[in-house]
Amino acid sequence: MNFSIFHEIRRILLLLVASLLVSWYQHSLWPTAVALLLYLSFTTWQLARINNWLLQQPEDWDPPESSGAWGDLFDNLYRLLRREKAQREALAELIARTESSVSALRDGVVILDRWQRMTNWNQAAALLLGLRRATDMRQPITNLVRNPDLLSYLRAEAFERPLNLPSPHVPHVMLEISVTRFGAGEYLFLLRDITQLHQLEQMRKDFVANVSHELKTPLTVLKGYLEALQDLHGGEHKTLDQALSQMAQQSERMQALINDLLFLARLESAPKIPAPEPLALKPLLNKLWQEAQAIAPEKQHQFTLDIPDTLTLQGSPSELQSAFLNLLTNAVKYTPAQGHIQVSWEALNEGGTLTFSDNGPGIAKHHLPRLTERFYRPDAGREQHNGGTGLGLAIVKHVLIRHHAQLDIRSQPGAGSQFICHFPAPCIANT
Ligand code: ADP
Repeated sequence: MNFSIFHEIRRILLLLVASLLVSWYQHSLWPTAVALLLYLSFTTWQLARINNWLLQQPEDWDPPESSGAWGDLFDNLYRLLRREKAQREALAELIARTESSVSALRDGVVILDRWQRMTNWNQAAALLLGLRRATDMRQPITNLVRNPDLLSYLRAEAFERPLNLPSPHVPHVMLEISVTRFGAGEYLFLLRDITQLHQLEQMRKDFVANVSHELKTPLTVLKGYLEALQDLHGGEHKTLDQALSQMAQQSERMQALINDLLFLARLESAPKIPAPEPLALKPLLNKLWQEAQAIAPEKQHQFTLDIPDTLTLQGSPSELQSAFLNLLTNAVKYTPAQGHIQVSWEALNEGGTLTFSDNGPGIAKHHLPRLTERFYRPDAGREQHNGGTGLGLAIVKHVLIRHHAQLDIRSQPGAGSQFICHFPAPCIANT
C-alpha cells in the first residue's frame, strides 16, 4: 500500500517547528496552539469529506482530491471498493446464470431448509406441484404434497432410493422424487415426470398378468387330458409312457410358472399388504421345512432351526409363508446331499434378521446383485433341471419390500449362501 505516512509526519514536524519558532520569537504559546488547531481542523475536514464520500455510492464516484497520506488513503479505499464491487457483480452474475439454468431445467427442483420448509423452487417444480411464491414460500412441503408415502419417506430418511408419487397438481402425472441432503441439513428435491415410464411399466404388468391368467384355463384342460391319457394307456407302450410323463412334468412346470407370475402380479398391483396378522414363526418354519425337504428327501439334509419359541412376525401370513418356502426350497434344491441347512434369528435394536444359510455350492459375487431379477439364473442349464421357475427370489424380494423389510444375499463359491431377511421393528410382534 502506497501510504506516505513519512510525508505526513514531515508535514506535522515542519508545522510544529515553524509554530514553535514563532512562539519563541513572540514569547507566547498562541502561535503553536493556533497551528495545532489548524491541523486538527484540517484532519476533521478530511474525515468529513471521506464520510460524505462513503455515504454516497463510493465505488461509482471518484474519491475527494487530496494530497499526502489522506490522498493515498482515499485512493486505496477507492481501489478496494472497486475491486469488491467487481467481485459482487461477478457473483451476482453467477447466481443469476445458475438460477436461470435451474429455471430452464425440465425437471423440478425444490430446496427445503432443515425444517423441511420450501425456500426456493424452479418453474418446472411450480407446475408439477402447483406451487405459488406468494403463499407457499416457507411452507413445509408436506402441507402442499399431502401424501402419507412422502411423509414416511421423509421421516425414515431412506433417500438412497427415489420415491414415486402422483403429482398433487397435474392429473395422471407420475413423479419420481429423489432427495439429497446438503449444506446445513437442507434438502434438495429433484422431481422427474415419469408418467410415460410408469404407463409402460403398468402395461407390462397388465400384459403379464393377463397372459398368465389366459393361459391358466387351457393348461388345466391339457393337464386333465394328459392325466386321462396316462390312466388309459399307462404301461401299454414304453415310448408313449415316457412322452406322457414328460408332458405331464412340463405342464406341471408351466403351471408353477403361471402361478408364480400371477402371484408376482398380485404383489405388484396391490401396493400395501392387507391388514397385518401375527404369524408364529417356529411352527411355520417347521411346517415349511417338511414341505421343502419333500422335494428331495433322498438328499437327507441336516436342518437346524435356531429361533425363539415365542417369535411372532406381523404381516401377511400367505406372502411371508410363500417367501420363506421359496428360500427353503432353494436351499434344498441347491445344497448337495447330506448338506447342512440352517434358519436362525438375531434380534437387533431396530428389528431383527431371519437368516437362511446353507453349505451348498455358493454363488459367484458378480451374480449377487442380479439374483432377485425375474428369470435371472447364474447357470441356466443347471438350474432348469431343478424344476424352479426362476421367480422364487423375485417373489421373496417383493414380499419383503411390502413388509418394509430387505433381502441381503451373501455367498461365495464353495462357501455356501446366506439369505438374510432384515425385518424392521414394526414387523415383529413378539420375541
Ligand atoms: P430358481 O427357480 O432358478 O431357483 P430363484 O429366483 O429361486 O429361481 O433363484 C435364482 C437363482 O439363484 C437360482 O437359479 C440359483 O442359481 C441361485 N440360488 C438361489 N438360491 C440358492 C442357494 N441356496 N444356493 C445356491 N444358489 C442359489
